Amino acid sequence: MDPLVAFPDPLQGDPQLQRFLESAVAQLCQWWAGSGQRSPLPLLSVLPELAPPAEGLPPQALLADLQLVMDGAFNPLHPGSLAHLDPPPLAAGVAAELVAAGLNNNLLAEELSPSLTRLERGLCAWMASALGLGEQAGGVAASGGSLSNLMALVVARHRAGLAGHPDAVVLCSADAHVSLGKALMVMGLPATALWPVAVDADGALAIEALQGALERAERQGRPVLAVVATAGTTVRGAVDPIAPMAELCRSRGIWLHVDGAIGAVFGLSGAHRQRVPDLGFADSLTVNPQKLLGIPKSSSLLLLRQPALLAACFATGLPYMEPSWADAHGGECGLQGTRPAEVLKLWLGLRQLGRSGIDALLEGAVARRQRLQRLLEPLPLELRGGPLHVLAFCPEGMGPSQSDAWSATTRQRLLDQQLMLSRPLYGGRHHLKAVLGNPHTGEAELQRLAAVVEASLP
Ligand SMILES: *Cc1c(COP(=O)(O)O)cnc(C)c1O
Repeated sequence: MDPLVAFPDPLQGDPQLQRFLESAVAQLCQWWAGSGQRSPLPLLSVLPELAPPAEGLPPQALLADLQLVMDGAFNPLHPGSLAHLDPPPLAAGVAAELVAAGLNNNLLAEELSPSLTRLERGLCAWMASALGLGEQAGGVAASGGSLSNLMALVVARHRAGLAGHPDAVVLCSADAHVSLGKALMVMGLPATALWPVAVDADGALAIEALQGALERAERQGRPVLAVVATAGTTVRGAVDPIAPMAELCRSRGIWLHVDGAIGAVFGLSGAHRQRVPDLGFADSLTVNPQKLLGIPKSSSLLLLRQPALLAACFATGLPYMEPSWADAHGGECGLQGTRPAEVLKLWLGLRQLGRSGIDALLEGAVARRQRLQRLLEPLPLELRGGPLHVLAFCPEGMGPSQSDAWSATTRQRLLDQQLMLSRPLYGGRHHLKAVLGNPHTGEAELQRLAAVVEASLP
């Protein structure tokens, strides 16, 4: 191949550039096609040279360098990839990601992304309404659920007039995601501003404990800037009781944020909506289509019942831009300024799946979790699941140091069988955790998993 031009030619097609892109796509397709023969984790990995060379590289050398990085990549397509909330990438999402890179538009401002800005606004409004947040609802895309959660809490604080208040607190379940603690750190609040509320035996927030915590906050004169419900906790997929939580919040005028990074997508399906009931009571809702739906990373939305609050909180004015034709530019509706068109892969991915494809994806994930649960139930294990597609477990009655060793050994034995699980610390003990979101995982993998776990028991 001849050397590549640096930028696409605006006046004519460039067969050389097209061949290069096609070769990169072919290389990716080959990587996919071979992924069942490799293991979830690469065995060894060599990185190419890091610094730019004195003279630019020809196309073959670029592709060879790419291949080295691909060879060392985590392999989400492998049927035994069950460790995390990272499924194979949805096909249309991959195409959309390539096109989005080629368009190189910017969600910062409308004149830098005319169609894409409208697409993002429209899709957020559609998703928010589909999840029950009402006809006025909408939102903004963010690069990950941590950022969505952070923006939600900043909006909640702004709306409550508590910006700069040093005593404000956030209440969430003890099993809520670590990103909430990080958010408070960024917001200049001490770690003690996060009040963890006890969970019940199923891992869902205990509503009496929340009521007690709210009363304690009142007695101590601590203003509550938000209550956070989790729809799908990270270790076991538990869903907090959103309706009674909303009731407690409403009577006190407190913002309810629902962290649905894992579970909110179940609200898109009539058949599975009851697994995450009452999402519509949220003032704000985090959804991560990058998890179960397989939209290529990153894909997260922050949805609000009143989306105008985003600009009310974050707008600074963009004096170097033409005025927005709607309410506000993308860059005024959140923390990010320049932002890629992440909405394109979400929109095209959802169009590819259709309602029936979404249903089938959720159905398959839940069915695999139920099947694994049935296979493990006869064993002397403590199973920690929920209504979604996540299942954690550890041997009955095992203490902390023993379970640390057991989970490490068993994880390695599973990896030897090309089954990758994660090893979360939960309730002071290490568990093994399976996330059943990978559509390639079949009966054979689940049976092998159960057999290895059975053989590993003391
Ligand atoms: C994954 C997750 C997040 C954070 O999302 P990122 O995209 O990793 O930043 C937040 N909350 C819950 C419950 C999650 O599982």
